[in-house]
Amino acid sequence: MRLRCPECGSRAGTRTSRSVSLTITEAYFDCANPECGCRFKVLAEIVGVKMHGDVPNPLIALPVLKAKVTEQ
Ligand SMILES: [Zn+2]
Repeated sequence: MRLRCPECGSRAGTRTSRSVSLTITEAYFDCANPECGCRFKVLAEIVGVKMHGDVPNPLIALPVLKAKVTEQ
């Protein structure tokens, strides 16, 4: 996952990450700008699937995401 630093807008890379639950991951990011040095924490949650796999996990029930509707 690539993110921008919330302070200077430069790219930031994952330093460490760990699973908090089956659908939530916690990660720490470091800003790539040596003049900034910001470190920040991110929580990423899986909120749905585009298509279920062939080995479903009975412990979770993720919704199938609908196609994005665009205005005409
Ligand atoms: Zn930064």
